[in-house]
Amino acid sequence: MTDAKPTVRPDRRAELAAGLAQVRARIADACATAGRDRSEVTMVAVTKTYPASDVLVLAGLGVTEVGENRDQEAAGKAAEVAAAGVTPRWHFIGQLQRNKCRSVVRYADVVQSVDSARLARALGAAAAAGRERPLDVLVQLSIDGDPARGGALPGSADPDAGLGPVAEAVAGAAGLRLAGLMAVAPLGWEPQRAFARLAEVAREFRAAHPEAVALSAGMSGDLETAIEYGATHVRVGSALLGMRSTLR
Ligand SMILES: *Cc1c(COP(=O)(O)O)cnc(C)c1O
Repeated sequence: MTDAKPTVRPDRRAELAAGLAQVRARIADACATAGRDRSEVTMVAVTKTYPASDVLVLAGLGVTEVGENRDQEAAGKAAEVAAAGVTPRWHFIGQLQRNKCRSVVRYADVVQSVDSARLARALGAAAAAGRERPLDVLVQLSIDGDPARGGALPGSADPDAGLGPVAEAVAGAAGLRLAGLMAVAPLGWEPQRAFARLAEVAREFRAAHPEAVALSAGMSGDLETAIEYGATHVRVGSALLGMRSTLR
């Protein structure tokens, strides 16, 4: 890193401003349609594969929440952004290996992708040792219950992967604060069906954990439906920053 404030092409700035205006309008329209207050929905800008300079431009346009899905990429990007004097809230939204927990707790403010009790315990230990304030955690839920694709399993008593046991492990970890649920609509499911199912699980979940009110659902292609079904956080990448050249 040689330059803490990378120069940005003026056309990139205009591109990001246009993408942001569009996404903000979509969120506002979806809130109006759903009869929800706009302040109930937070946009997390998913900047994976895009450079720190884009994060700085977005922050300059008022974006305060940023999402990343790989520790190696996120750690460097967060350091670059911090070196420029900008401090968004970083959300870790990708599959997390236990050996990466010590790194992630140093820059992340929220981890949205905890889906096993073992991971919760490892993250809790890392957070207790490596940061002053508790780390906000969303439990990632599997909407279709397919154990192969990740996500805690609602209605399962599995001590490692069941939604109840994962939530208990998060709630019981000194370094963590259980903040809510996250999910991705399964491939091949209509967003309507996926988010209706998610809303049902979230309702039961909140009965057991009334403080865990965050519901992170919806991406570029389906954020309107997610907002209709109660999302408090939408994770938006390509609609803001452009299509990624890789499939993640
Ligand atoms: C990449 C990613 C997103 C953003 O997806 P887009 O379709 O680009 O908006 C959201 N959530 C997760 C978990 C992701 O990995």
